[in-house]
Amino acid sequence: MIYRYIAAMLLASLTVVPAVAQKKGKAPQQREVKVQKTSLSKEQETQLGKEAAAEVERTMEVVSNPQAEAWLNKIGQRLAATPQANAYPYYFKLVNEDSINAFALPGGPMFVHTGLIKAAESEDQVAGVLAHEMSHVALRHGANQMSKAQTWQTIMGVVGAAAGMVGGGQCGLMCQAIQMGGGLAENSVLMKFSRDHERDADLNGARMMAAAGYDPAALAKFFQKLEGQQGAAAQPKGLQAWLSSHPSPGNRVQYIQDDMTFYARREYTASSGSSFPQVQKTVAALPPAKPKPATMLQPVQAQARTNLPQGFKDLQTKGFAIGYPGAWQAGQPQGGGGIFVVPQGGAAQQQNGGVELITGVMIDYSKPKSTDLSAATSEILQSLKQGDQNMKLESTKPVQLGGKPAMLTRLTTKTSNQQDPQQTVLFYTSMQGELLFTMAAAAPPSQWSQAEPVLTQITSTVQFK
Ligand SMILES: [Zn+2]
Repeated sequence: MIYRYIAAMLLASLTVVPAVAQKKGKAPQQREVKVQKTSLSKEQETQLGKEAAAEVERTMEVVSNPQAEAWLNKIGQRLAATPQANAYPYYFKLVNEDSINAFALPGGPMFVHTGLIKAAESEDQVAGVLAHEMSHVALRHGANQMSKAQTWQTIMGVVGAAAGMVGGGQCGLMCQAIQMGGGLAENSVLMKFSRDHERDADLNGARMMAAAGYDPAALAKFFQKLEGQQGAAAQPKGLQAWLSSHPSPGNRVQYIQDDMTFYARREYTASSGSSFPQVQKTVAALPPAKPKPATMLQPVQAQARTNLPQGFKDLQTKGFAIGYPGAWQAGQPQGGGGIFVVPQGGAAQQQNGGVELITGVMIDYSKPKSTDLSAATSEILQSLKQGDQNMKLESTKPVQLGGKPAMLTRLTTKTSNQQDPQQTVLFYTSMQGELLFTMAAAAPPSQWSQAEPVLTQITSTVQFK
């Protein structure tokens, strides 16, 4: 198990730097912050962050607005240039998502939700969140978190199985980090920092702000304001998740003020003044993000449905729910793509790194040119046929899937399975908003009589969100 091995290495190499002792009778000393030592090299960290950022961009809508982007980057790069930023290659993107959140991935990619811009009162407060998040990177808290195998296993509940089901390999380091990144965007459970990490990120962040010319007190004030709104009727969306991933280490305002007494600089004039209200207006005028195909495939934690056939497990994603036999596995291959629900040996790794369905079910989404089901179905069948010269379409008819109008196309093709290359596929299509849901239920004709009742049972459990 690769991840366990890595975890052991990380734990073994942690070096504890003692906090500066405050001896009686001596002048108080500034508290030392600790850079966590891990066995990951900076290059590995950067690579992990890069993979995770790609997953974030597959599933979330990055705001493309030159003015807002320029504003965010200016703040970020000012902070990145300080010694406290520890020379990581930071970059900053705004994502169209109304909940309060911002997260920096190992190595430096950082994403700020528009909901956070809306909730902030000043540019200094936004700079405070950036500085705090960047400090988690600079102090290598994320890399340190990756040593928590237990957390990973929870994250990997669905996805880890995918790596296991093709060729028996474990979900490797990259695979896990990708999932971590994807989940991070929505599920703060994935990156829950300790209170010590929080305090260090606050102190390092406050020093970073001061060095860049932003008011360090704004960091604590913003956190305090958000903590004050917790549980209120008008609690901003996402606040609970945000606060639980950054647990309060005590009186942030007090210890940041104490720390500020050690700072040389007293004037903080970096804020650009009029730009912030302008950006807030721009952000408030954005239409809600449209779901992307990859968003719909993202697994969500939900209560398993109780009306499934006996012995079935339940997989729920943002877009749909599907039940499947307990001995089967469900997951998404490394690097994204459709969700596979297969028995042992039901999927095969291809030469090009892709995963091929042999027996079982594969679900995916696409964005068709037309939102008319019949037109969208023709479009996808045509493109499938173009990519597969063995494919033969037999029949298409309207059906119901999960209580929704759908089309069922029966087709045959060939797989790379040399012993038994023929394949029969029941290909379902259904519109979900502007996206086309596709589900291929497949088996070789030689096994069709055993496979069909199971595939039918699985199909009957499909539900749309
Ligand atoms: Zn934090």
